[in-house]
Amino acid sequence: MTPSNETVPDGVHDGADDRRHSDVDDSDGDQARRRDVILAIDIGGTKFAAGLVTARGELIARSRVEVERDVGPESHYTSLAGLVTEMHARADDQEVRVRAVGVGSAGPVTRHLESVSPVNIAGWRDFPLRSRLAELTELAVYGDLDAKALALAEGWLGAAQGQPNFCAMTVSTGIGGGIVLDGELLDGESGNAGHIGHIIVEPGGRRCGCGAQGCLEAEASGLAIEAITGRPPTEPTYEIMQRTGTLVGRAAASICNGLDLTLVVVGGAVALGFGATFFHSAQVSLDENARLPYSRGARITPSRLADSGPLIGAGAVGWRGLRRAARGAS
Ligand SMILES: [Zn+2]
Repeated sequence: MTPSNETVPDGVHDGADDRRHSDVDDSDGDQARRRDVILAIDIGGTKFAAGLVTARGELIARSRVEVERDVGPESHYTSLAGLVTEMHARADDQEVRVRAVGVGSAGPVTRHLESVSPVNIAGWRDFPLRSRLAELTELAVYGDLDAKALALAEGWLGAAQGQPNFCAMTVSTGIGGGIVLDGELLDGESGNAGHIGHIIVEPGGRRCGCGAQGCLEAEASGLAIEAITGRPPTEPTYEIMQRTGTLVGRAAASICNGLDLTLVVVGGAVALGFGATFFHSAQVSLDENARLPYSRGARITPSRLADSGPLIGAGAVGWRGLRRAARGAS
């Protein structure tokens, strides 16, 4: 791995750590002895979560609230602000110092989360999330798409730890992804690189929210499964677990063939809930379709971070932001 590897948000804290250890009996050292953390926030379609993430990726506090239905933008913001206040109190209790805010948000979003319009939060359309959080916390706020944040977490501490080339996917209510190439998480023109849910896996298939037909998201997401089967994805048949795996494997093969990858990490409640049946079908489908010399043998593997992944990912976004700011690169 190269020293510039963006998937490892380490390094911001090194100098501070050294001072801390040598300052134990300094009466002025209260601040210096405090461990630094990122206040991590996950904006999901059905819940807001917040936590405190250390520079080693430990999640030392967490809390969540359900997203209310049919309320206005300020009501959503008020419940989020409540979580932020709670995390500041937890930071005081644990004698840690909040260095910055890191956010992973459901999309679509604009770059750095200047505005967010999560599909499943109807009350937030072009909501100025970054500036509102900066105003509330008086801290630097760094943000990215939730699936890209998860890719950072997987590369940092999860199933892609230390890998410079991989794709991370979430198969949940919707389907998202993040792509790390040559040690860098791809942003793209508008920051939306990695929207794997819109790879077409069934030509002429179901109409997708994006306007195309047969996208992975329209065929294999939790919402799609519910629409197709009339049952929630928590009550799947064997066939639907198999079919979902096959379609995800098909998309994974296109990614591996197109981007020269051999590792796809999959998280999200639907994929992890379907478990071995899903992953077996996905691997068979990937094996069938990734046959180029560089993509043959590609693996599809479950996330190792379970339900901590989104908050660790948001923490990773925060640490990455601080490191970039320290370099003057923003
Ligand atoms: Zn689509």
